[in-house]
Amino acid sequence: MNASKLPHAVPSIFAQMSQLAAQHGALNLSQGFPSFNAATELKNLAANAIMEDHNQYAPMMGIPSLRIAISRMIQEEHGAMYHPDQEICITNGATQAIFTALQATIFKGDEVIIFTPAYDCYEPAITLAGGVPVPIPMSLPDFKIDWDLVKKAITSRTKMIVINSPHNPSGTLLTDEDMVQLESIVTHHNLYVLSDEVYEHMVFDDHQHNSACRYLGLKERSFITGSFGKTFHVTGWKLGYCLAPASMMHEFVKVHQQVVFCVTRPLQHATAQYLQTPSHYRDLRQFYQRKRDLFLQLIENSNFAFKPTQSSYFQLLDYSAISDDGNIAFAKALTINHKIASIPISVFMQGKDPKMLRFCFAKTDEELVAAAKILNEL
Ligand code: PMP
Ligand code: GLN
Repeated sequence: MNASKLPHAVPSIFAQMSQLAAQHGALNLSQGFPSFNAATELKNLAANAIMEDHNQYAPMMGIPSLRIAISRMIQEEHGAMYHPDQEICITNGATQAIFTALQATIFKGDEVIIFTPAYDCYEPAITLAGGVPVPIPMSLPDFKIDWDLVKKAITSRTKMIVINSPHNPSGTLLTDEDMVQLESIVTHHNLYVLSDEVYEHMVFDDHQHNSACRYLGLKERSFITGSFGKTFHVTGWKLGYCLAPASMMHEFVKVHQQVVFCVTRPLQHATAQYLQTPSHYRDLRQFYQRKRDLFLQLIENSNFAFKPTQSSYFQLLDYSAISDDGNIAFAKALTINHKIASIPISVFMQGKDPKMLRFCFAKTDEELVAAAKILNEL
């Protein structure tokens, strides 16, 4: 048997915690997925697409109407132009877009900067591409990036910087100042950017999502990834997209062709039609802000400490007033003994164990009430 390419890989914490929740009959606020149904209109569009026999292979980069709809959405949201024929590719979720972008650009020994806590697919995808992940810890408890640390971490082998805003698990957003700093660093060192923006439409209060496509110096060197699973409450559809300038997309598509060739066609038709109504994604803000506010109002007198999350459908809760246990032990105990599952964020940040758990509030109001009842008793 050859050596493992991913010797340290274990089943993801999302799978582990969801399984533990099922095993112990716990409320599952761990893995990020909505517990409520997708819109009937969207489901009808998908059913119709299948019945209308849109069931054969899609064009490699995705059906034109979906790429045109994405191009328009990005133009309207951010004022940035991506050509539907050359600069947009439909992928099997953002996960495949991330993997493909790394395979297309990273050569053996290339260094890729990531910020920890980092979403769990970045590091293995960099490693499989032959690259070397260079983790830079975000400052705690505010989850900010220290750009001086980034400058110091850059070597002659640095090839790319991966950012994730809105950020999983903290829900923080990169500010305009952050993006300008990043732009100056990557243009000076001629680096690629992979900007994972899957929670692009879930931004609360008066916060703004500063997409990489809003900054010229970033747009011309960024792969930007999005996910309809998040936006339309259909994580099981695994439908996402990648935006990149034509020359970068050219290389991306060479890999995409070999990894999946193309992705599910009927769901592309449904999504393209559903995107024709901008309120379907624009209203997501209000929808999730109401859920966040409900959840936080219900636990305001609990022993957990928190700052309302700025974006995403995740809320971090600090349990230092409740227990001295480490993150993983506390998350497991909550699941087994108190029947509520969350994500211990220490798994995304080697060597650190902040007393914070991530709770997903993409749940029915009844589940949020039930979750709060448990949390208030701790
Ligand atoms: N990036 C982040 C930050 C995520 O949270 C997720 C999924 N939850 C993904 C990428 C993957 O998205 P998809 O399900 O579309 O593959
Ligand atoms: N992205 C989801 C989360 O952060 C999980 C997706 C997965 O299970 N791979 O919870």
